[in-house]
Amino acid sequence: MPHTVYKELLEVMKKRGGDFSGMDIPEFFDMVEELFTPEEAAVNNAMPRGPFTAADLAAQMDKDQAEIENILEGMADKGLCMGLTLNDTPYYQSARFMPGILEFQFMPGRRTERDKKLAKLIDAYKKAYRQKAGQSDTDFPTNRVIPVERTISQANNVHTYDQVQTFIDKNTQIAVSTCFCRHAAELRGEDIHGMPKEVCMQFGMSAQFAVERLGARKVSKQEAREVLERAESAGLIHMSTNLADDIGFICNCDPWHCVAVTHALSKSRPGLFFNSGFMPQFDPALCTACETCIDRCPPEALTMQEDGPPVVDLDRCFGCAVCASGCPSGAIAMINRDDIPTPPENAKALKAAIKEAKSQAQ
Ligand code: SF4
Ligand code: SF4
Repeated sequence: MPHTVYKELLEVMKKRGGDFSGMDIPEFFDMVEELFTPEEAAVNNAMPRGPFTAADLAAQMDKDQAEIENILEGMADKGLCMGLTLNDTPYYQSARFMPGILEFQFMPGRRTERDKKLAKLIDAYKKAYRQKAGQSDTDFPTNRVIPVERTISQANNVHTYDQVQTFIDKNTQIAVSTCFCRHAAELRGEDIHGMPKEVCMQFGMSAQFAVERLGARKVSKQEAREVLERAESAGLIHMSTNLADDIGFICNCDPWHCVAVTHALSKSRPGLFFNSGFMPQFDPALCTACETCIDRCPPEALTMQEDGPPVVDLDRCFGCAVCASGCPSGAIAMINRDDIPTPPENAKALKAAIKEAKSQAQ
């Protein structure tokens, strides 16, 4: 029988929302009992919305401030909540499971026995959650693809949110950390197909938190561009939150382990769910039929024709431009497609779109 504090934690996490928010299944309790001590679970359950200090929470819980501060410091270092120092004062903030706690566990890139155990428990919970939640093709996507910028044909509409460069230009704090999806896969003993791991990028306050607490490395704008180039050359997909305004991160995803991509691939028409709003256009005069693009395409959306360049299945194509960035003949340019909704303006609009899609599915 789960301890009462973990049952309360289930309700708290459900209210916080996000992906894998909490489900009353044995795999949930197996995971949270390893993640949180009972004391940490009680502190998690009492956290208010928004940033708070140890003194705020101690007063709310009627506890000793030093005791609560000690627990909060340990939780921030374990990636169970956010922790930031502003004007020499430590502030904390509650975290969702995803994006949040489940990723934070693997960003430091540790390889302890506990990390290996957590990688298996978290994977088991995610699989059981998805199985019980069922599949819906009408979900509103929480993530989107950002195309490889230099492959976009010049005659096309290109918004700032289509350009990875925008996020590098406008952020003064940029950090790079271990890809939690591939690191967790390695901890479970899975093959990561030689893909690079030091390619997860955080911006602004998320970058500060990742550097202070999760072992991320602060990088210059030039280093950030080099990380993106390394990811592009490996054939990884740029991905972030499905928002037109500020985003806190760019992940560089593969089709075997990354949560957003594997979730999209489980849908009947993955290309309509997870997309950049672009698609490849082939120049038959330049194509040498080398099939590099077919090998690189993460969702296997391309088929070679007898005579002429490959054809694309738009129900599968993510618009990632991994094909175009790897074409040795420059025969592929990315052009706009008009059947993909533009990203919601901000977090509030995204939340409303997700709610609306859920109500339509019922
Ligand atoms: S990679 Fe370029 S040249 Fe090779 S088949 Fe694809 S489009 Fe043609
Ligand atoms: S065809 Fe494949 S590689 Fe090219 S944009 Fe579509 S999903 Fe990406």
